[in-house]
Amino acid sequence: MQLTIDLTGRDVLVTGSAHAARQAVRRYEAAGAAVYRLSTPDGADTDGPLPERPFLVAAVDDGQRGWEPLLDRCREAGIPIASEPAAGESGHVTLVGGGPGSLELLTVGALTALRDADVVFYDRLAPQAELAHLTSAELVDVGKSPGHHKVAQRDIEKLMVDAALTGKNVVRLKGGDPYVFGRGGEEVSACVRTGIPVRVIPGVTSAISVPAAAGIPVTHREVSHMFTVVSGHAPLTEKEHLHLAGLGGTIVVLMGIGTLPQLAAGLRRAGMDHATPVAVVERGYRPGQRTTIAELGTIETAAASCANPAVLVIGEVVRVAECNRAHAEATADLDRLAASLFEA
Ligand code: SAH
Repeated sequence: MQLTIDLTGRDVLVTGSAHAARQAVRRYEAAGAAVYRLSTPDGADTDGPLPERPFLVAAVDDGQRGWEPLLDRCREAGIPIASEPAAGESGHVTLVGGGPGSLELLTVGALTALRDADVVFYDRLAPQAELAHLTSAELVDVGKSPGHHKVAQRDIEKLMVDAALTGKNVVRLKGGDPYVFGRGGEEVSACVRTGIPVRVIPGVTSAISVPAAAGIPVTHREVSHMFTVVSGHAPLTEKEHLHLAGLGGTIVVLMGIGTLPQLAAGLRRAGMDHATPVAVVERGYRPGQRTTIAELGTIETAAASCANPAVLVIGEVVRVAECNRAHAEATADLDRLAASLFEA
């Protein structure tokens, strides 16, 4: 069970050594509490007078012996005690996949990592709107700098590594999954090279979830038994067009708006049926989500007003969504008809 209690102005006593308690202290301060510290059980090392009766005791598990008698006295006095894990010994980095942008699609692991972070470096596509509610960590936008230029990849890696070297618990929050066109591998390498412990929490990739937001299953029995995820960052080669067209499965393209004309023309040259349905799903799970459906022969004009972030889906699975939608609409129409007949 999880409870949310308003701690604004409340006296909270955080027990535990300074190093182990640093994250708990920051969390309670960020929650607006008046934080008092006790770093040894004998009370020899306090900053000043302690409150007579704190609203809450946050007991950090710092591995020291001797806290129990004090905590027992608090329990007897009816003061609630929250057990807190000790902050990590040395700095480390966690790459976190943030999913396509809605809070609902963050994993439990992502939420925990955010909660425990000292600093979060986040991207333009990461779910950033509610970040301040999920963590009391320092938030650093590396998707844009004041001049609207992206922070260079090398500089992001340096920021992460330097923060971890000062002992901070660093979260690198990325859109979707860190290993799908996310340069996650490079960031892991940068940590490994400098000896910083690093782990990766996978995320819900837009390659599968954004089509789903438009009702499109990337595979469907007897329609498509494979899907290929392609980066549209740079145009494909003629050989790649041929191979893709030859596979006969679903093609999912990320970062593909800019090179859509080259891709569509390339697939047509490679012999793909001009009537193959194509969907462009913009801003999946975000405000202003929009789906544009056309055929391979006409998609350039149909998608002329489409902008990134968007996922392209090329293949017969697009029709599955259309069928389901038509079915749902027909059912809704029937329901409305039935309701109006009933009223009359
Ligand atoms: N690692 C990410 C992809 C990074 S590349 C992932 O796994 O999803 C960035 C591209 O992802 C965008 O250009 C767009 O094609 C796609 N994308 C990410 N989030 C999206 C969203 N909410 N709606 C549509 N496309 C999205």
